[in-house]
This record gives sequence, C-alpha cells and structure tokens, in this order.
Amino acid sequence: MSLLQEVLAFNKEFVETEQYREYATTKYPNKRMVILTCMDTRLVELLPKALNVKNGDIKIVKTAGALVSHPFGSIMRSILVALYQLKADEVLVIGHHDCGMSGMNANAMIENMKERGISEETISTLNYSGIDIESWLEGFNKVEDSVAHSVDMIKNHPLIPAVPVHGLVIDPSTGKLDLVVDGYEKK
Ligand SMILES: [Zn+2]
Repeated sequence: MSLLQEVLAFNKEFVETEQYREYATTKYPNKRMVILTCMDTRLVELLPKALNVKNGDIKIVKTAGALVSHPFGSIMRSILVALYQLKADEVLVIGHHDCGMSGMNANAMIENMKERGISEETISTLNYSGIDIESWLEGFNKVEDSVAHSVDMIKNHPLIPAVPVHGLVIDPSTGKLDLVVDGYEKK
C-alpha cells in the first residue's frame, strides 16, 4: 500500500466510526494565542502536550526554524489574520534546540538541488533576477538569537496591533521551555 492509500484507508475508517467527535470545537482559540513554531517531527505531538494545549485552544503556524523571513510573507500574514480576525491576543514564537535550520548551509542545499537535477543555469538565472537564493535558504547559528529576531520582526511590524509577543525555546526531547523574550516586559 502506498503512503497515500494508507492515509485514505485510515481516514475512511476514522470518519465512519465518528472518531472526530472528541475533537469538535470552533475556529476561535479558547486560549487566545497564536504560536509560531517549527515543522520538526518531534514537536508534532510533544509541543501541544508540553504546553497543555488541545484541539481548539490555539492557532498554530509552522515553518522551518520558526523563522519570519519576510515581513510581507505568508507567515506574517497568518499571524495578522489570527490577531485581527480570529481573536488571538498574544503571540508566542517557539524555536527549538537541534533544529534542522540551525547551522544550515545554503550552499550545501544548493549542491543537493543540483544532484537532484536542478540545473546550474536555473540557479544562476534566479540569482541574476535579483533573488538571493543563498540568504533565502540560510539557517541560523543560535536558536535564541533567531527567536529574538523573529519576535522583533513581529513586534516592529507596521501592521501589528499592541499585543504581547513572547519568545521561547523548547527542548525537542523533554518538552522543557526556556524563556527568551517576555512579551509583557515593557522596553
Ligand atoms: Zn526545527
């Protein structure tokens, strides 16, 4: 069975036996916050459990490295939608130790792309079109700095309302949270 068939077969059973009932909720978060975190596999279940959040409690936005890399990209738009349209009142940026984006080297990934059939020409055409692929793909060195940077980007965004923006780092094995930026503290 392919992965897709497996998913569809399970899904059929899930719906037929009404397993969705225990997840019934609304689109508004019970705990009025939006979390920006990483797509890391270890955080799929661990993060909600470690923060005591359940279906219906929060808005969650996931992206590699929990990075806000563009002030007018879809990550920032999601956060704004959560705050203005979906009743979230606080933002939590949660990076994690041992992140795939930590120390990620853009050149190594570009080499990988070439091995997988992306031509040198494509890469240089993009570079000549003003797209800086290297800095776009570049990871970060220290997760605490990267979280603080994302918090700063959100806090100083021209369209952000006056809400607390917190920064934290989670341990992907134990779920332990360390505070990097307390959004309640006035600067
Ligand atoms: Zn990560």
